[in-house]
Amino acid sequence: MRRPLVAGNWKMHGTRASVAELIKGLRQLAMPAGVEVAVFPPCLYIGQVVEGLAGKSILVGAQNCAVEPLQGALTGEVAASQLQDAGCSLVLVGHSERRILLGESDDWVARKFAAAQSCGLTPVLCVGETREQRESGKTLEVVGRQLDSVIESLGVGVFAQAVVAYEPVWAIGTGLTASPEQAQQVHAAIRAQLAAENADVARGVRILYGGSVKAASAAELFGMPDIDGGLVGGASLNADEFGAICRAAGS
Ligand code: PEP
Repeated sequence: MRRPLVAGNWKMHGTRASVAELIKGLRQLAMPAGVEVAVFPPCLYIGQVVEGLAGKSILVGAQNCAVEPLQGALTGEVAASQLQDAGCSLVLVGHSERRILLGESDDWVARKFAAAQSCGLTPVLCVGETREQRESGKTLEVVGRQLDSVIESLGVGVFAQAVVAYEPVWAIGTGLTASPEQAQQVHAAIRAQLAAENADVARGVRILYGGSVKAASAAELFGMPDIDGGLVGGASLNADEFGAICRAAGS
């Protein structure tokens, strides 16, 4: 039985004041039983969020980590070991905004995945196709390749301590959501690809859906057999909306 996970990616949003407000809202939420909840604030505010959510069962993650796991001479980057020291327990790797806008390659994503795990952080590997790739029938090929690059360099066993997030690029921040059937098809393919190497790992790994998830669409998506929760961007900046999405994962 996989425990659902709802993760809020705050992206590059927030100020000390707005983060304090959001923490206040999150603290007031009743956490649904059996659902794991995590938030991913901008790096600068991780300490504030860890302190602000102390005692509340909400995990804190980072949106990125350096390819090198340990601190050292790498200007502007943050090491997985430092994130762990700051109180993080998860880290996003390979978000499409980083792959596309910052040119992160599959190879770098795999190195970040390994760096995270070596410091005890759970990597959340983001995969997904662009609109053009979907329209030309390449969705499963693209997602399969992104997944394969981690399997090839690190082995399938690493997914026993990781999360996968399927996030169609065309659905991120656009208000367009994949239909539950479209998402389920890709989630099932991801699980089958892992199962071809290791059935136990495939059965246990949580695969989240991300892409304009809202309270109104969450229950139907989370009701699909291979969708184990959500990675939520815009809607996670509103504590009440995010709380409703978390409750949908528990129902
Ligand atoms: C995201 O960026 O991970 C995301 C899913 O964003 P949104 O929910 O805003 O589409």
